[in-house]
Amino acid sequence: MEQIAARVYVNFDYEGANVGCILTDVGAIVVDTPLIPEDGKAWAAEVASIADNVLFVFNTDHHRAHILGNQYFDAPVIAHELAWKEMANYKDAFIERTKNMFKRQPEIAAQFNEVVIKKPEIAFTGRLIVKKGGREIHFVHMGGHTPATSGLWLPEERVLFTGDVVVVGEHPSLGQSNTREWLAELTRLRKTSLTCSVPGHGPLCNVEATLPVSEYIRAMRSKVRNQYRSGRTKSEAAVVISQMIDYFPYRQGDKSFVEKRIRAGVSRVYDEMKAIYGEE
Ligand SMILES: [Zn+2]
Repeated sequence: MEQIAARVYVNFDYEGANVGCILTDVGAIVVDTPLIPEDGKAWAAEVASIADNVLFVFNTDHHRAHILGNQYFDAPVIAHELAWKEMANYKDAFIERTKNMFKRQPEIAAQFNEVVIKKPEIAFTGRLIVKKGGREIHFVHMGGHTPATSGLWLPEERVLFTGDVVVVGEHPSLGQSNTREWLAELTRLRKTSLTCSVPGHGPLCNVEATLPVSEYIRAMRSKVRNQYRSGRTKSEAAVVISQMIDYFPYRQGDKSFVEKRIRAGVSRVYDEMKAIYGEE
């Protein structure tokens, strides 16, 4: 866990996503919880080492890497209304799919047997402001990455937790995105004055980190647009995967995971192009 501002901490090391902890005079606010149960427990222990109690757990979106450790915190979960709706539908099959992701690491897969998805009890739409324990905290809808994706803004410190709207050094996940809204959000962020920002994945950054993400999304849109407008089917448009894969580094063992992520992005953007250009 690293301190990034006064009484603001982040752990950048857990598998899946960054997690944060903001201390107030009356308890902590936790930003996202790790994917793997062992990490979820470790994160709860880390938070307990600096805070007597947790006021809220905030999920930046409904993806598994942000929510699966919620159960290890004795506090209500806050999320955007659309994340709340998505999570309301998570059943056992969701846990099974998570286990499958780790089928080559059975000792990790087995940990998911104990997971109970703790769903949000508090939902917001545009912006929720909490003034508590000498602190002001804004939960802000951002969109783009998923319709639900939200950030946490600390106006005094000018620190923003971006959720997966900004990721550093890895392929952004476009599978549930609205790429036009995402680009608009990144442009908007570049006009703000942030001291620092905590990306969904990767090291602490500033607004410059939005540039490679914008560039990636634009490249994806233009390549998929060309495929669509040349009359290629969605499966033919998968040639874009090999054109995009070297945009960001990845570990050799993660290649098929990354390809799957890009494939989901191609599929999503293909549908977006179809909605723009219709059947040509
Ligand atoms: Zn996500």
